[in-house]
Amino acid sequence: MKVIKFGGSSLANATQLRKVLNIVKSDPERKIVVVSAPGKRFKEDKKVTDELIEFARLVLNEMPYETIQEEILNRYREITEDLKLNYLVMEKIEKHFEKLLRTNFESNNLLIEAFKASGEDNHAKLIAAFLEQEGIPARYMSPQDAGIFVTSEPGNATILPESYNFLRRLREMDEVLVIPGFFGYNEREEIITFSRGGSDITGAIVANGVQADLYENFTDVDAIYVANPHYIPNSKKINHLTYREMRELSYSGFSVFHDEALLPAFSGGIPVSVKNTNNPNGEGTKITRTKPKSDTILSGIASSSGFISIHISKYLMNREIGFIRKVAQIFEELQLNLDHMPSGIDEINIILKRDQLTPGKQAALLYRLKNELQSDEVRIQANVCLVMLVGEGMVASVGTTATATQALADAGVNLVMINQGSSEISMMFGIVETDEEKAVKAIYQAFF
Ligand code: ASP
Repeated sequence: MKVIKFGGSSLANATQLRKVLNIVKSDPERKIVVVSAPGKRFKEDKKVTDELIEFARLVLNEMPYETIQEEILNRYREITEDLKLNYLVMEKIEKHFEKLLRTNFESNNLLIEAFKASGEDNHAKLIAAFLEQEGIPARYMSPQDAGIFVTSEPGNATILPESYNFLRRLREMDEVLVIPGFFGYNEREEIITFSRGGSDITGAIVANGVQADLYENFTDVDAIYVANPHYIPNSKKINHLTYREMRELSYSGFSVFHDEALLPAFSGGIPVSVKNTNNPNGEGTKITRTKPKSDTILSGIASSSGFISIHISKYLMNREIGFIRKVAQIFEELQLNLDHMPSGIDEINIILKRDQLTPGKQAALLYRLKNELQSDEVRIQANVCLVMLVGEGMVASVGTTATATQALADAGVNLVMINQGSSEISMMFGIVETDEEKAVKAIYQAFF
């Protein structure tokens, strides 16, 4: 049994939905379909989810919302007309919006959540009706009926473990089930969404719950590429990754597959296949626990901007018991997430995501690090980019760092920081953001 998930661009219009139909039809093992909201039809287009967020904002601010409401409804209208679906499908979607506007939500957050989730919810109903019309016994199933129960963190839900028991029952269903991605229900039966792009997470949760043989994640690229195709237009494709490699790559910029979607797949040992809706017979990229040995040292090169680095030095830091704890406590009290902490004898560097810091928080952080820790120096470097070299093959090879640093030196890229995890499957370089493209190109050329 396979669980398949389609992203927004794979479901953006009727042409794409016909491809989805063929994909479902071509393999009777494809029994559960998880769907996103309609995405962009062309580059400048808007995603329905973004429009829904805007819709909710206007409603909350008591501003005119009719135009955006119409725009969203038109996305569905265009599809239902093109596919010649029964008028009742569109009527249901219109009713859904009317109900959203009538409901008294207990908080603004819950209103936003319900609006956001309606993008996938209505699309799942539409797609189920389309599959049925085309002769596939199919049925829409709400996340509540499926048993997707989540924590009450709006926009950042996580799955509750009991969900997996409920989901197991879905194995017994005869029809093809169409489940909307991106949201679940909390224990008060309120809609709560996962983080953005979260339909991948739903897909992985369902795949784990039903113990699928394969989780196929359909997007709009042929495979995961070794390096960002934006920088390396003819980048090689990756045929096979381990979960660990994928985790490292998605942390640092590979957005093809949501990083939170890996955990359910990983813990259930479900093989994942990333494929292209527009080329479904292509090989795609497989992600599994282990993979056959290959000759390549690196599997992928990722890069991600938007970090800052804080340098703290203090003479005899190495002998001061509890120093790191005090640093960590300051971060915790300011509710800041600390990403990396490479260290020297009398110094540590802390790398964190820039978007967590307001000017006020930054000032407080620097003040406390300097005064409470009685540091000799606290320096901040903004605009840091992390370049990550990832590959299971690194463990068994000598000289990877040398090759990479030489390539970066030849390209004139200055290194702010180097860090290698003890598992030796990734190596990280901190550089200044303006060197990002140059660095990725240099490393790609050196290794591929
Ligand atoms: N529609 C949601 C978003 O745009 C979830 C998804 O597409 O996976 O974030």
